[in-house]
Amino acid sequence: MIFVLSGPSGSGKTTLRDLLLKDKSVKNKFVKSVSFSTRPRRPGEKEGRDYFFVSQGEFCRLKRARKILEWTKYLGYYYGTKKELVEDALKEGKDVLLCLDFKGMRRVKKIYPKKTKTIFIVPPSIQELHKRIKGRSLETKDEEVGERVNLAKRELENISLYDFTLRNVNLKQAVKGLKDIVLKRSVV
Ligand code: ADP
Ligand code: 5GP
Repeated sequence: MIFVLSGPSGSGKTTLRDLLLKDKSVKNKFVKSVSFSTRPRRPGEKEGRDYFFVSQGEFCRLKRARKILEWTKYLGYYYGTKKELVEDALKEGKDVLLCLDFKGMRRVKKIYPKKTKTIFIVPPSIQELHKRIKGRSLETKDEEVGERVNLAKRELENISLYDFTLRNVNLKQAVKGLKDIVLKRSVV
């Protein structure tokens, strides 16, 4: 299976995914998809763990060489899924977890219609989202925080197009909710 986590920037996709992958019952069954990105690295982010940070030229080369399964442009930067990683994981019989925007979700669902389950992570409120984006990295400029929040409002309009929605208010409860979805124990 392929699980796509989408939702506004700051809704908690990355945090939830990483906490889920620390869970013993999930760990060995799932592979985290690490995307290519042309955006600058945030403090604390690691090459190959958070993204493969590449130049725009390198991104175009990868796209031309068909190494990218799907891609998007977000706030002027390119992001793309490493095709090989997804294909290898599926060949090994593992499930894949991806954090993608709406465009990426639709593309993956189109490529793997039967295998893909989509989950929309809902923040408690726009105000809280603003706080989380700002709190994540003090280096994020106010203008970028504003742009991310504006895009968040648009992403929220697509909520009904997902298989599952998951509110991320309390982190522990949200991780449990996500675990229930991916282990198919319940429908949230
Ligand atoms: P996304 O990947 O969706 O852009 P992140 O996972 O980077 O979002 O989360 C944004 C920020 O919000 C991070 O600093 C993270 O620690 C924080 N965060 C995530 N979930 C919660 C929560 N339930 N309560 C409080 N803070 C949270
Ligand atoms: P961020 O800059 O916050 O890490 O990511 C910005 C947005 O790009 C988020 O919505 C994130 O989920 C999305 N994103 C990250 N990697 C990819 C990718 O490979 N493909 C697509 N379509 N979206 C991605």
